[in-house]
Amino acid sequence: MTKQTKCIICRKCNSENEANLEKCQKCGQDLLPGRSIGTRLLFLVVALGSAGLLIVAFTMGTIVAKAIFTIPLLGGFFGGLALTFSKTSVSDKYKLRGEKYIKSFPAQAVTDFNKAIENLSDSKGDSKYELIDKRGDAYKELADFSNALKDFEECEQHYKINKSNELGKIVIKIEQMKAKLAQNN
Ligand SMILES: [Zn+2]
Repeated sequence: MTKQTKCIICRKCNSENEANLEKCQKCGQDLLPGRSIGTRLLFLVVALGSAGLLIVAFTMGTIVAKAIFTIPLLGGFFGGLALTFSKTSVSDKYKLRGEKYIKSFPAQAVTDFNKAIENLSDSKGDSKYELIDKRGDAYKELADFSNALKDFEECEQHYKINKSNELGKIVIKIEQMKAKLAQNN
């Protein structure tokens, strides 16, 4: 395994901070990323694209087309705008940082996904299990296969109940973890 530092380095003053902090203790620099400009532009494209298609549907579409497409396109428009301009939630910030560190600094990623779960505003299943799934990936990188297996199995339950597209992927991950654990014994 690669060498791990215990804490996160501030990019402004280079001081070391505890892995679960949001702001640098020395200089106050935000240690968590927000939604990037690129991601925001992508959401803007979704919003504008939805608006364009909405205009097309209303000027040229049949009654059936209007009935089918109006609500999803309105959703795309307003949802896209919201994600373009809104502040990134604390949970999303931890999620973004966790995703950044899964490979290079998985211990940090585990901490961040835990904080992201803790800070979820709606405990609605899907976003929570997406985070548990990713935390499992980070445990796997740490070669902590039993915790990874626990996370993946928890997700499997949720994906089964919701008939999620993620089910196939999680079944493979579970098999991999079981194989790893069998090797180690
Ligand atoms: Zn600092």
